[in-house]
Amino acid sequence: MNIHEYQGKQLLKKYGVAVPLGNVAFTPEQAIEAAKSIHAKKWVVKAQIHAGGRGKAGGVKIAGSLDQITPIAEELLGKILVTPQTGPAGKKVKRLLIEEGSDIEKEFYLGMVLDRNASRIAVIASSEGGMEIEEVASKTPEKIVRESVDPLIGLAPFQARRIAFGIGIPDRQVNKAVKFMLELYRAFVDQDCSIAEINPLVLTKSGEILALDTKLNFDDNGLYRHKELLDLRDLGEEDEKEIQASEYGLNYIALDGNIGCMVNGAGLAMATMDIIKAFNGDPANFLDVGGGASKEKVEAAFRLILSDPHVRGILVNIFGGIMKCDVIAEGIVAATENVGLKVPLVVRLEGTNVKLGKEILHHSGLNITSANTMADAAEKIVQLVDQAAGGVVK
Ligand code: GDP
Ligand code: MN
Repeated sequence: MNIHEYQGKQLLKKYGVAVPLGNVAFTPEQAIEAAKSIHAKKWVVKAQIHAGGRGKAGGVKIAGSLDQITPIAEELLGKILVTPQTGPAGKKVKRLLIEEGSDIEKEFYLGMVLDRNASRIAVIASSEGGMEIEEVASKTPEKIVRESVDPLIGLAPFQARRIAFGIGIPDRQVNKAVKFMLELYRAFVDQDCSIAEINPLVLTKSGEILALDTKLNFDDNGLYRHKELLDLRDLGEEDEKEIQASEYGLNYIALDGNIGCMVNGAGLAMATMDIIKAFNGDPANFLDVGGGASKEKVEAAFRLILSDPHVRGILVNIFGGIMKCDVIAEGIVAATENVGLKVPLVVRLEGTNVKLGKEILHHSGLNITSANTMADAAEKIVQLVDQAAGGVVK
């Protein structure tokens, strides 16, 4: 789960991490009130969307006086921001963070992330703040320092010092930077974060170390023990279909192709997408209905796929283990009866009760193409979609 910058900063503040003074605003009136309540020489007005790269896209503005706040807020609220992370459609700005402006001496990068290969949290830092870390990694990898954290000991002060010196924090500020990192690490572990990225971490002209930007992601599997975090979820920032999917406990990710996929198991779902690609098709989604899906869940999954206007064909690829093929078949039949099926459907079933499942589909009277292997299924659905498009081969 992702949250907004202002929410991340409020959370980090509770752990003692240094962040600028700031308030959220939903309207220009609230923006001016927020600015007035912060005694400052200048203010920063920041668009709050679940994507980075706002600075370059015009989503971060500096106001030198209170008079400038209202026009900036009016300009930003309702604006569609297109950044490298939003995709071409962009995201509409509905909230602003009004913050005390900082005089920046130098920008750094600081990130914490789970290193799955090492099964440890990795702390990554760089002297090149404000830039995307991927870019630094590809152009000047020597400017990145990293430390792997022993989960039993936690981030050790000597590691934090090594990072601070490694990225060129001046000697006088090293202790502040160390404190910052240790507190950020505490917040990361305590809140079950999957990513904590401070880009930029800044050294101000008055010698403070501050989180100028904050990106926090949480491990969804840990959310059950952080009920208070759920209030921070902004459904307006999430894909409508992904929200519906989460209500049914389906793992659904929208993609930009035209072949809807319904698969059980994440591995099989990935393999199915690969094989569609191998036959020159394009998956419209990743969808894992899980191991023990009910008829209702299959039906919901099917409706979800059909609600995507780009879908020109559907491929169902199910290996019935705990999940039985007849249950899947019943779900498919029920869903198509309720929603209607206007696109070709290829079904490949294998495993428990496969015979019964195939019979149910066969007797349903629906226009279903049956397939035996994965390759067979992928080839058939790609062909059917191409035919429906007038034989245009991509
Ligand atoms: P992002 O582009 O979405 O990552 O947004 P950031 O919060 O990182 O802001 C982008 C850039 O705006 C930063 O790298 C800074 O250079 C600049 N910026 C943000 N806040 C301030 C501030 O208080 N003072 C100054 N001078 N620049 C700021
Ligand atoms: Mn940033």
